[in-house]
Order: sequence, then C-alpha cells, then structure tokens
Amino acid sequence: MQSIQATIITIGDELLIGQVIDTNSAFIAQSLNAIGILVKSRTAVGDNKKDIIEAMDLAIAQNKVVILTGGLGPTADDITKPLLNDYFGGKMIVHEPTLAHITHIFENIHKRPMIERNRKQAEVPDVCEVLFNETGTAPGMAFIKNGTLIFSLPGVPHEMKWLMTNKVIDKIKQNFKPNFVAHRTLLTAGIGESFLADLIADFEASLPETIKLAYLPNYGMVRLRLTGSSSNEIALNTSLDKLFNSLKTFVTEYLVTDLDETLEVVVGKLLKEKNQTVSTAESCTGGFIGHLLSKHAGSSQFYTGGIISYDNRIKTEFLDVPTHILQTVGAVSKEAVEQMALAVRSKMNTDFAVSVSGIMGPSGQTDEKPLGMVWIGVANREKVVSKVLYLRFDRHKNIEVTANQAINLLRLLIINKI
Ligand code: ATP
Ligand code: MG
Repeated sequence: MQSIQATIITIGDELLIGQVIDTNSAFIAQSLNAIGILVKSRTAVGDNKKDIIEAMDLAIAQNKVVILTGGLGPTADDITKPLLNDYFGGKMIVHEPTLAHITHIFENIHKRPMIERNRKQAEVPDVCEVLFNETGTAPGMAFIKNGTLIFSLPGVPHEMKWLMTNKVIDKIKQNFKPNFVAHRTLLTAGIGESFLADLIADFEASLPETIKLAYLPNYGMVRLRLTGSSSNEIALNTSLDKLFNSLKTFVTEYLVTDLDETLEVVVGKLLKEKNQTVSTAESCTGGFIGHLLSKHAGSSQFYTGGIISYDNRIKTEFLDVPTHILQTVGAVSKEAVEQMALAVRSKMNTDFAVSVSGIMGPSGQTDEKPLGMVWIGVANREKVVSKVLYLRFDRHKNIEVTANQAINLLRLLIINKI
C-alpha cells in the first residue's frame, strides 16, 4: 500500500496579479483526491524560468506526482515547453499526429492558413510521452524523473480537464496503486451546523480513524459527507454503508436526500414522481428560483413558468395583489406573498406555486422592515403557507439563500410536512 503524494504547479503571470482565478488547481485536486492521491501543496508561479525550475525541483523531490498547467501556448510568454525540454535534457521534435491535428483545425475549423507559431505547437521534447489533446492545439506531456511522474497540461481549463480525465488519471493509476476512496453524502435542512454537530456528537466520536466526517454548510442547509480510503474496496464500501445508515438515523427529521444531489433536483424528482407541476411568482429574486427549477434537463415536466413581479404595478396587474395591501402592510408581507402564490398557481393552473418578496439590500429598509427581511410563500390546491426570513448576507447571497429556502418550503408542502 502506498500513500501517493502530489503537488500542483499553476503557471502564468495572470494568476499572480489576480487577473485570472486559478480554477485549474481545484479541478485537479478533486480529480486526484477521487483516486486516493493526496495533494500535499499547490503553488502558483509567474511565466519566469527561474521560479518555475525552483518550484519543479522542490515538487519532484517531495512528491510522486507533479502536475503543471499553463504556458504551453504559441505566444512569447508561454515558456513552459522549451523549459521542460532543457530541464529533462531532451531535444525538440515534431509530433506528427499533433501536427496533423493542428493542420486539420486550421484548414477545416478556423479556415485560415497556419503560421509557424502554430506549427511549433506540434513540437515536443523527445524525452516525453505525448498526451494527445483532442480538444486543442497544445498537447499535454508526461515525463518521469526519479520515480516521479510529471505532467504538463495546457492552462485553458476545458483542455486541462479533458486531458486530466482522459489521459492523466489512467497513467497515474497504471504507475501507482493508490488507495480506493469512497464518499457517502446527505443533505439536511432546517437545522444549523452547530445544532447538527451536537445531534451527531456521539456518532462522530465513534468514527474509526480511517473515516472522516465533513460538514459542508450552504444556503441554510448542511451537507454531511463521510469519506474513507482503503486498499480493500469491498471492505471500505461495507463499513461506509453501515456508518452512513447509522448517521441517517440521527438526522431523519432533517434529511432532504441521501444522494449527492441538489435541493432543486430533489424537488424536481418529487414532482415528476407524482406528475405534478409548479409555477413561480418572484419579486426580490428576479427569476432566480425559476432558473434553479429549470436548470436541469427534463424540467419542463414539472416547471411551468413564472411571473417576475419586481415592480408593485406588476404585483397588482398580473397577480391581483390589492393596492390596499401594498399601501398598508406593503409588498414585503405575508399578505402579499400569499396572494402572489395563490394567483400564479391559479393562472398557470399548476399543482404548486412559490412566491417571494423581500429586501435584499444594501438599501431599501424601513423602520419596520429591516434589510434582509424576506417573505416566502407556497401554495397547493388546498392551502397557502408563508414564512418570514431575516437574512444577514450581501445582496447576492441573500438572493441565493431566499431561493433555496423557498424551494425547501415547497418541498415540505409537497411531502405534507407543513
Ligand atoms: P494556450 O494554448 O491557449 O496558450 P496555455 O497552456 O499557454 O494554452 P495559458 O496561456 O497559460 O495556457 O492560459 C490559457 C488560458 O487559460 C488563459 O485564458 C488563462 O487565463 C487560462 N488559465 C491559465 N491557467 C489557469 C488556471 N490555473 N486556472 C484557470 N484558468 C487558467
Ligand atoms: Mg500563458
């Protein structure tokens, strides 16, 4: 059994000045983690020879897997390839399949002549194994030194992802036998992180050292993930299943799903199972709930549509919210959201409806209605239920939390819990 350690080196001045956010490292770390490789460190360096070499020396001395991204392009700032050629003592040769691929891209896709700069992309050090890149012009490369595998991948995120998934992972698995890693994930709603921690304290204390529990709070819900790694895949799955079942018994009351899926997917499934539909009337979320409900393929089976009644005139004209309600208790009120839900449900003839109206900030509060005050409503053919929230985030986050809380209230109505 080996514990294989890896490091990720991302290359590019744009990463250091904050112009580009390094999303490559996150994807690479997740891919390595999924096959039981421990990412020990991540480094970002500029397009600078000395800095890249220093980072490589250290990385190779300490790890079995080193992954570099960036600097493989045809421009002068892209220095990785010649640098690797010198570093590993090779000479540059043309990789014919890549040359044919680049020629094809220019002749048939770009429909413009290839210049020398593009042709150069097909050159590789003769000491590397070429990782043919179906998604772009810069090939990936694999080197080996002192038993360490070094991969150099393009910086373009979708090309890097394709090469990681289709070439790099297999090659790492061929060379090393990493532990099997497995996860079990569940989602809870209606209980804060610290209360949840209290609730499952005994379970957590009884976990074996090889199994880790992670709390992933998000938008008023908490995801719990059990992760284990072992050389014995069957034993690992058996023990994870047993622990996961036990964990579920502690959180039954708050359990949304025991799969690694989002809330809107859970609600979509519930509606599809019963052949039921939902519509939306949104003020402060501006259509975000509709976006979530229509985000996944097949949503038209259960999501009918919505009215974005941002302005009060639209609440009145399209959703029949009486002007006296808007003038007395106001748009952010129980009365307004309940009428919005009732009206949209009836007009769109759906089984359920969701409505929201709130003050998302950073301004708009009054003495009676603080910033972050939001009313959410849900209706079915028999009743309408509403709830008030007091959020304390920025505008963007308030919108996301509201949408998730509203969809969760809809879920509770669908399963007859409210
Ligand atoms: P190309 O052939 O396109 O030039 P390259 O290997 O030279 O590929 P870079 O020039 O370094 O890659 O980067 C290409 C693009 O990918 C740029 O738009 C850059 O912003 C983006 N990019 C580079 N590194 C990262 C990273 N670590 N995370 C996210 N995006 C990145
Ligand atoms: Mg670059």
